[in-house]
Amino acid sequence: MRWQGQQIDTADAAALPGLEKLSGFVRSVTTPEFADVTFHEVMSKSALNHVPGPSSMPFDWTVNPYRGCTHACAYCFSRGTHEYLDFDGGRDFDTQVVVKVNVAEVLRRELARASWRREHVALGTNTDPYQRAEGRYRLMPGIITALTESGTPFSILTKGTLLRRDLPLLQDAARWVDVGLAMSIAVFDDELQRTLEPGTPSATARLETVRAATAAGFRVTVFLMPVIPHLTDSIAGLDDALRRVKAAGAARVVYGALHLRPGVKPWFMQWLAREHPELVSSYAQLYPGASVNAPREYRRWLARRIRPLLRSHGLDGRDEDDGMPRPPRTRTGPVRVTAKGVAADPAMLF
Ligand code: SF4
Repeated sequence: MRWQGQQIDTADAAALPGLEKLSGFVRSVTTPEFADVTFHEVMSKSALNHVPGPSSMPFDWTVNPYRGCTHACAYCFSRGTHEYLDFDGGRDFDTQVVVKVNVAEVLRRELARASWRREHVALGTNTDPYQRAEGRYRLMPGIITALTESGTPFSILTKGTLLRRDLPLLQDAARWVDVGLAMSIAVFDDELQRTLEPGTPSATARLETVRAATAAGFRVTVFLMPVIPHLTDSIAGLDDALRRVKAAGAARVVYGALHLRPGVKPWFMQWLAREHPELVSSYAQLYPGASVNAPREYRRWLARRIRPLLRSHGLDGRDEDDGMPRPPRTRTGPVRVTAKGVAADPAMLF
């Protein structure tokens, strides 16, 4: 395993953005607070990642302070990316977490470049920025501050209740730049959640976070996805989920069926065979061979099932298949120099 070698100054073309050279490796850490988890601390050379285009994603820039995620969702689409680091996409993804300890400092430098056009930056698109490790490393406050002071709009997607810690900072940020908050809640049944997403907070705890963010003035989107065929797609289950989402004050719901990309399919199917062997043959028909998406007929069936429920709960909803609205791309107003750095003039932003 590459990290165990701890070689220095070795070019590594396969490494993820910012980790091209192992000279950034600092140390590997284990702690009793996180049983079975190893944190690999690195000094990253870059923080902003450009989404290779053309992309279906509604943003062009991301920041990912962590690689790997202790939330350990069996369906996680990012599992395959861990293989670039010579880890596997299964248990290694859940327990070998790469931490870019200097990410805020590097980001601040990148955002100060004259060429930076203050385009929207998305957090939480690869791994969760508010996974439990964030309680230990506290990288997000520095990232939020750097984005705010550079006048860069941003959004955060998470399953982590730790988001609540940063709500005051995010409120302050929202005075200067557009801030989008989204909570991902795919599973509302506690027993299923404990096996499918064993490292995540419960749906109840996440809904409480939605409630807190709403009370703090944010219009929070809930990602009701992935919908897991045969496990979370019953009318009763969807109805209960949307009722609770509405009660928590969410402004909008985005839904979509499970994707099984090549890097995740074997791991998800292992989980399915262990926990729900009776569904394996059905999944083999829904996701045959290398197919990634549930069949179009299933997705249409799901939309026909969810739309009336959204209406009856008075929720604004969007099907992932309809595409996501693009966030603001560029801020062009003048910037103001503050004691802490450069911030966009709010008068030019709203
Ligand atoms: S929280 Fe997101 S990044 Fe983390 S394991 Fe689950 S799906 Fe993957």
